[in-house]
Order: sequence, then structure tokens, then C-alpha cells
Amino acid sequence: MTKPQGIAVLGATGSVGCNTLDVVARHPERYRVVALTAHRQLDKLFEQACRFRPDYLVVADADAAASLRERLADAGVSGEVLHGAGALEQVASLPEVDAVMAAIVGAAGLPSALAAARAGKRILLANKESLVVAGRLFIDAVRASGASLLPVDSEHSAIFQSLPADYAGDPEASGIRKIILTASGGPFRNKTMAELAGVGPDDACRHPNWSMGRKISVDSATLMNKGLEVIEAHWLFGVAPQRIEVVVHPQSVIHSMVQYRDGSVMAQLGSPDMRTPIACALAWPERIEAGVESLDFFSLSDLTFEKPDLQRFPCLRLAFDALAAGGDAPAVLNAANEVAVAAFLAGGLRFVDIPRVVAATLSGVSCTASDSLDGLLARDREARRFAEAEVAAC
Ligand code: NAD
Ligand code: MG
Repeated sequence: MTKPQGIAVLGATGSVGCNTLDVVARHPERYRVVALTAHRQLDKLFEQACRFRPDYLVVADADAAASLRERLADAGVSGEVLHGAGALEQVASLPEVDAVMAAIVGAAGLPSALAAARAGKRILLANKESLVVAGRLFIDAVRASGASLLPVDSEHSAIFQSLPADYAGDPEASGIRKIILTASGGPFRNKTMAELAGVGPDDACRHPNWSMGRKISVDSATLMNKGLEVIEAHWLFGVAPQRIEVVVHPQSVIHSMVQYRDGSVMAQLGSPDMRTPIACALAWPERIEAGVESLDFFSLSDLTFEKPDLQRFPCLRLAFDALAAGGDAPAVLNAANEVAVAAFLAGGLRFVDIPRVVAATLSGVSCTASDSLDGLLARDREARRFAEAEVAAC
């Protein structure tokens, strides 16, 4: 029998992290959990540590680390407890780690995902913000180290599965006309502008098809999530923005498509369950059991398609604009969005002001290209400061 693969799950206590551990637990002979990380949810991390017995655990700060260390000692569970952002990079680069699930939310996930790329790991990428903030740097790091980059975002997994097996990043050479990203349209698809002005955080987090963390749920409601995914697709698949089309498909059965020159459209279908793209990325090119029910075609309702409404959901347009502007514009867009979404979730910003804060930040902060991680992180901080002032002024 071959040796199990060592896995580090960054953001283990989140929605993608928990789904990853659900799939991993089904295959103890294939995977060994080497490291688990969480920010502040110590109870959940403690439970996961008892179950998966990782060699390393990472938490946000020294106090959290001390408290977790004590609980683990009482429970007789070994494992080194580290803390801080540097420790995330450290566990992502360990020699005994073969694959890194990058499932931290936001730009906070970039340094550790990039460390995995630089260390030549198999990167299972859920943290789309890494590619939005640092697309060029990230892809160059993957190429330089020989790392492999497997998408976990369901749309990108669908595209990955619909591309030719030998796809080398050149759509023209592979006869590809378009990448079609499907979007559920989120919980507010049918709301008027006037209704959108009054929606609150819990309404936004009640997604019709997917159960996800709160930040991405709000992004799905504003369609910024789809905008971030357009930028993610650009970097993952080497496609120009003009070749990326967004189609609203409320049932979330078709997870995305590739349209070829000869008129063929290849699509990937399935139940809206993240364990499918997670299992696909974990085992590719093999297919493993993920605990997901088979799609029952006889119980499917109609599959419908609409154009996205950029008047009511301007965040999608802002993301296309930022991609076209290039340089650090996508990093600025992302930082402003994180600030605005956090303010909305905290009850300090109206839903309809999220795109306003993002647009103002994009016009107020310089977007000339940074060529290093430090430069990008400085730009991210500058954009956050600007966006915070915008939020305060709303
Ligand atoms: P979540 O909020 O449920 O979990 C986030 C995880 O990151 C938690 O473990 C948390 O402890 C950790 N974390 C948060 N802030 C951190 C910080 N500053 N430093 C270190 N760790 C931190 O989020 P999620 O819904 O699982 O999403 C994770 C990522 O995956 C996001 O980038 C999201 O866009 C992407 N994604 C999620 C889904 C989904 O179904 N949830 C689907 C596609 C892509
Ligand atoms: Mg997605």
C-alpha cells in the first residue's frame, strides 16, 4: 500500500475546512492530517484535533495557543500548537505536507497559500482572494516551483473538468470560445432596488442553494463573489476577460461550462455540495467517494438561465472593470469589499452601500502594479484605510 498523503487544512474550522475533513475522514488510508489551522474557533479546532490527531495546530495568538495547549494536554492529545500568520506559512511549507487546502477567508489567506505555492505543494485552492489580490505573483510562483494548483471553487472545478486534459493555458490553441461561469443570483435575485436598501446581514446569509461562511454569502448576494470568480478564472485558465461570460442559473445544477469553437459546450453538473469539488481536487485525476448524493434527473425542476442585472448588482461590473484596469486594481477592489462586507455584517453599512464603498476606493487609491507580496500587502492596507473612511462617511 502507498503511503498516505500528508494534508494541511488552513481554515479547518470554516465551511470549506469542515467539508474537507468530512471527505478526508472517508479515506484514512489515502490521507493523513498533518496540520489544522483556525483563527478563533477554538472549540471546533479542539474537537477536530481530538479526531484527526494532527502534528501541528495553528491559532491566531499566544493566548489562544496557551488555552488550546492546556485543553489538549488534559485530553491526552499530542500535537504542537503554534500561533500567528508566520506559523500558517510554516505549516503550509512542511516537508511532510504533500497537499495544502487553502480555505482561509479573505486576503488573510494569501501569504500561506503563496508559501504553499513557493514550496511546490499540491494546492487545493478555495481562497479565491489569493488570485484576486496576487494573480500574477501566485501563478508565477506555481510555475517556478512546479507546484500544482487545483481549483476548489465549484465553478472553477467545473471548468477544470470541462477543459481538455492537456489544456496548457491557451484557449485559442484548444479551440475555446468562451468560459461560462454560472451564478445562482443569490438570495436577492428578484429584489427591487428599493427592497435591497432594507436587507440585513441575516437575509444576505440565507443563500438559496449553498451553505457557506458569512463573508462569501454576502459576496454571493452582491454578486461580488461572481466578480472575484471572473478574476480567479482569468488567472487559473489564462482567459481574457472578453472570453468570460456570467450566466445566472438559479438552480446551481450546472456549475459552469466551456464553449468550444465547433459549437460544443462542455458542462459539469452535480448537487450543490462543496464536497464534490473538494474530493475532485484532493484525488485528481482519480475519483473518490465524497458522501454526495447522485443527481436525480427525474426530480430536477427546470433549469433556467438569465443575464445578470448590473444595475441592481454593480459589484460584478466593478470586478470586470478592475480586471480590465489591471495592476493592483483587483487587490484594491478586494480590500475595499472586505471592509464593506465586514461593516455590513456588523450592522454599520447598508447593503446598497457596499458597491459605493468599493467604487470610491477604486477611484481614490492608486492602482499601479506592485511586484512583490510586501507591495501588494501595503496596497491592501492602504485600500482598507481608504474604504474604512468611506464606510464612516456613508
Ligand atoms: P468561513 O468563514 O466558513 O471559514 C474561514 C476559515 O478561515 C475559518 O477556519 C477561520 O478560522 C479562518 N480564518 C478567518 N480569518 C482568518 C485569519 N485572519 N487568519 C487565519 N485564519 C482565518 O469561510 P468559508 O466559507 O469556508 O470560505 C473559505 C474560503 O473558501 C473563502 O475564500 C471563500 O471565498 C472560499 N470558498 C468557499 C465556498 C463555500 O462553500 N463556503 C465555496 C467556494 C469558495
Ligand atoms: Mg464559487
